[in-house]
Amino acid sequence: MLTKTKIYLSSPHLGGSEQKFVDEAFATNWIAPLGPNVDGFENDLKNYLGENNYVAALSSGTASIHLALQLLGVTHGDEVLCQSFTFSASANPIVYQGATPIFIDSESETWNMSPELLEIAIKDRIEKYKKPKAIIAVHLYGMPYKANEINAIARKYDIPIVEDSAEALGSTYYNRKCGTLSDIGILSFNGNKIITTSGGGALIVKSKEDKDKAVFLSTQARDNAPHYEHSSIGFNYRMSNVLAGIGRGQMEVIDERVLARRKNFEFYKKHLSHFKEIKFLDEPENFYSNRWITCIETESFELREKIRLEFLKDDIESRPLWKPMHMQPIFKDYLHFTNGTSEHLFEKGLCLPSGSNLSHDDLQRILDNITKTLKT
Ligand SMILES: *Cc1c(COP(=O)(O)O)cnc(C)c1O
Repeated sequence: MLTKTKIYLSSPHLGGSEQKFVDEAFATNWIAPLGPNVDGFENDLKNYLGENNYVAALSSGTASIHLALQLLGVTHGDEVLCQSFTFSASANPIVYQGATPIFIDSESETWNMSPELLEIAIKDRIEKYKKPKAIIAVHLYGMPYKANEINAIARKYDIPIVEDSAEALGSTYYNRKCGTLSDIGILSFNGNKIITTSGGGALIVKSKEDKDKAVFLSTQARDNAPHYEHSSIGFNYRMSNVLAGIGRGQMEVIDERVLARRKNFEFYKKHLSHFKEIKFLDEPENFYSNRWITCIETESFELREKIRLEFLKDDIESRPLWKPMHMQPIFKDYLHFTNGTSEHLFEKGLCLPSGSNLSHDDLQRILDNITKTLKT
């Protein structure tokens, strides 16, 4: 009998040119956290995101969020408002800075930060003489958050936004690229993201001064002197020139990767939406998702688990939707403003295999499996 290969949720998908850029790094001895690939990758990203953006390639998305908070002056005792329905890396850097996270639930049209709850939370904190220092909003699974509404509230109360676009490179909102919609954007190039450098991230800022400052802080904050001189605390967060070579190769195929992920979504939706037990998240008008992960909302926890466990038996990886931060053991005692949306999604939602390298046979195998589960 033929053994079936495992189908992953979201696995790396090389384009072809990565090896050439990595070989170049070896051939020229640029085995360091600086060099032509770092500059080249930053340029590729800048060209992709738009000329008025400045990009610093860093060691991870998490490091990028940490540095963003550092640039915004978030420090010990500050409060930071963070989307609850996200991956923990959105919130961890708040704690690295000695600040306190406060979690905000989602609305049901994009599954991202609820503008209503955001404003309620801001008003509550201001009443208690504790104006939040920053907002971390997330384009979860590639779906843009309601940036017009969120930006308007942030501006009204003069609070900067960190735009966690780790899952949303290639998504757009009113034709503007995610990662560029707010004050500081961040990207991730972890192995499971839409493009990868094996591990990596980027900070997107609006001025050359902010980029220079980010690079300075990410390379140990070395002052201009012949010896090592430091007047601020630095980080070792710059991207390696070897890994940036992978990123340059990946940027050649980013458009194809987005289209492939969107095609996965269309395939699942076409063949499954007639089952009334299953719902998909549609794009509101002018929202364009890279469909990094195709998610389904099932009618019950029991059905979700049944689907997940049948997948598991057939070596198909799936995962419940991200567990909200306000429910996590490490974060549950922090203040949160909730409306039930993310708890409901966590209970009933499932991430389907969504890699851009899924073959038609893979998709058919997944479809056959879930169809069988739904019919029994
Ligand atoms: C992956 C991810 C991060 C962290 O990125 P890393 O590069 O893995 O550190 C942050 N936020 C979200 C929403 C993510 O999905």
